[in-house]
Amino acid sequence: MSIEQLDFSIKNSKNILLVSHINPDGDTLGSMCGFYSLIKDNYKKNCDMAAVSDIPVTYSFLPYIDKAKNINDIDTSREYDLVINLDIADIGRCADAKILFEKAKKTINIDHHETNIGYADINIIQPDAAATAEVLVEISEKLGLKISKETATCLYVGIMTDTGCFRFSNTTQKTMEYAGKMISSGLNPAEIYQKCYESNSKNLVLFQSYCVNKAQFSNDDKIAYTIIYKKDFEKFRNDGEDFTEGLTEKLRAIKTTEIAFVVKELSANLSKVSMRSRQVNIAQICSSFGGGGHKLAAGAVIKANPDNAVKLILEEIKSKNLC
Ligand code: AMP
Ligand code: MN
Ligand code: MN
Repeated sequence: MSIEQLDFSIKNSKNILLVSHINPDGDTLGSMCGFYSLIKDNYKKNCDMAAVSDIPVTYSFLPYIDKAKNINDIDTSREYDLVINLDIADIGRCADAKILFEKAKKTINIDHHETNIGYADINIIQPDAAATAEVLVEISEKLGLKISKETATCLYVGIMTDTGCFRFSNTTQKTMEYAGKMISSGLNPAEIYQKCYESNSKNLVLFQSYCVNKAQFSNDDKIAYTIIYKKDFEKFRNDGEDFTEGLTEKLRAIKTTEIAFVVKELSANLSKVSMRSRQVNIAQICSSFGGGGHKLAAGAVIKANPDNAVKLILEEIKSKNLC
């Protein structure tokens, strides 16, 4: 039903905007560029793409990523016929693109976060899907859309990165089948893996080791966390990478860890938490701070300095009796 409405809406819109989330990852960017590619090939339409924060250099190889505009370069007084949010768990995560979303004649929300409340006119939310890119493969199959090598590359990156290279518990038979279908377009999985995971700068690896090195532990080592202050970032030069990508997983990799989190200082009294678990539903912990995500991978922005944010998180885990 919603998929037919999506098809109808694209066909009947002259100007379309695709939006990715703040602090973009491989899924939101792969889904945005993959959908751009699908619309170009199958509907013969060019659409705009909005990035609401800097795109990590790691993803500069994605087909069509050069067509994405920073939100500051888009006229925000514009009224789009259709705005499509990709991998955006809540409306706040489209940051400055929210104004364009609210003004649009029609809005669509394609996502896989269980905390997504369905804030658009048309909502295609599949919490069982490993990635938003996986939802897009399914949509393409149902609508009989042609998937070019460019589209497949983008969607493969979305699926691969959100499943931690097909290792996380969100990986299903369907995930593998869809990834296989993407590979059948002729892309090279090893090459894409290297671009995403083995193209880090020396500084990124040193920075992450430094953060792991100063990790702290609580509840008999069941909780592992590290705090990153602004001054920590200043010690390592960053030429445009997402320096914290994959860091929380490094703490979860410790055998005793049940909940791992990284708290990053954003500004005075504002911190970002990135949380991972083995079994505990941490989406509910992050939701209580106004964030959200998945059962085993969630995040939130907390109005507190990093040390107080840690205290609040530990209290929340304790009060919910989670580990
Ligand atoms: P991260 O730790 O930033 O990699 O995010 C883990 C998961 O939680 C991702 O699926 C994010 O989309 C989601 N997430 C992170 N931060 C937030 C937030 N502030 N609100 C809602 N979902 C979030
Ligand atoms: Mn994402
Ligand atoms: Mn995702």
